Amino acid sequence: MRKFVGAHVSASGGVYNAPLNAAKIGASAFALFTKNQRQWKAKPLTEEDIEKFQTHLTNSGIDKDHILPHDSYLINLGHPDSQKRARSLEAFIDEVNRCSLLGLDKLNFHPGSHLRQIGEEECLSLIADSMNRTLEVTEGVTLVIENTAGQGSNLGYRFEHLAYLIDRCEDKSRVGVCLDTAHLFAAGYDISHEESYERTMREFDEVVGFEYLRGMHINDSKAKLGSRVDRHHSLGCGEIGLEAFRLIMNDARTDNIPLILETIDDTIWDKEIELLYSFVKEPVK
Ligand SMILES: [Zn+2]
Ligand SMILES: [Zn+2]
Repeated sequence: MRKFVGAHVSASGGVYNAPLNAAKIGASAFALFTKNQRQWKAKPLTEEDIEKFQTHLTNSGIDKDHILPHDSYLINLGHPDSQKRARSLEAFIDEVNRCSLLGLDKLNFHPGSHLRQIGEEECLSLIADSMNRTLEVTEGVTLVIENTAGQGSNLGYRFEHLAYLIDRCEDKSRVGVCLDTAHLFAAGYDISHEESYERTMREFDEVVGFEYLRGMHINDSKAKLGSRVDRHHSLGCGEIGLEAFRLIMNDARTDNIPLILETIDDTIWDKEIELLYSFVKEPVK
């Protein structure tokens, strides 16, 4: 098997519930929040939480390499206000440490927002500083930058933004990228047909490089191409259409990384996972 598909599953009640929820939908990868994503404070993980997580993970048969934790939505590593940025950095470092405690080696995050108070490059530079500070005081976890739809003042909607951050990172062995298909499309990168898909992926390779790709978010988009609006949809129900997902499932450049659904109807995630596997031209599962 080379393709590892799952979804961003609930960890409510405790992080150790995430592997159970992933197993229930037939996933071979998953994403989770290791704390409540809408609150700053979190109870520290206990020995018991960690042990239960490990046990459930082993029982699920899912490999740690295919888990892509996501950070809190509150964090803005490029916040123009230095005190608010410091608060974000502290929370981000805490999230990296929570991943370490769980034995996980990646943390997926959205780069940050300039809030129309500073320029794009100044904000990107602040984000790179925050990433370097984090890398200095943590170990073993790769910071996985997600491309965004470019809604509001969110950065990360151009491949050049991702490349800038990687370029400024002092430890390139611990920086990676997650490509979200809905965000790509909304940011103006067409992937809906073979030709446009190949063009977008070639540009990604030239500007960023597939060697940095650590995961993907597999979502259709309610929002139109280039709309800069972030609205996910179920596969085949949105503006992207199924062809893009068929191409991804047959693209060797997406082998062995977590492919995570963040589609809007969690009651059909099992069907969507099955559908994605059915696209693979040679048997891989
Ligand atoms: Zn995403
Ligand atoms: Zn999104």
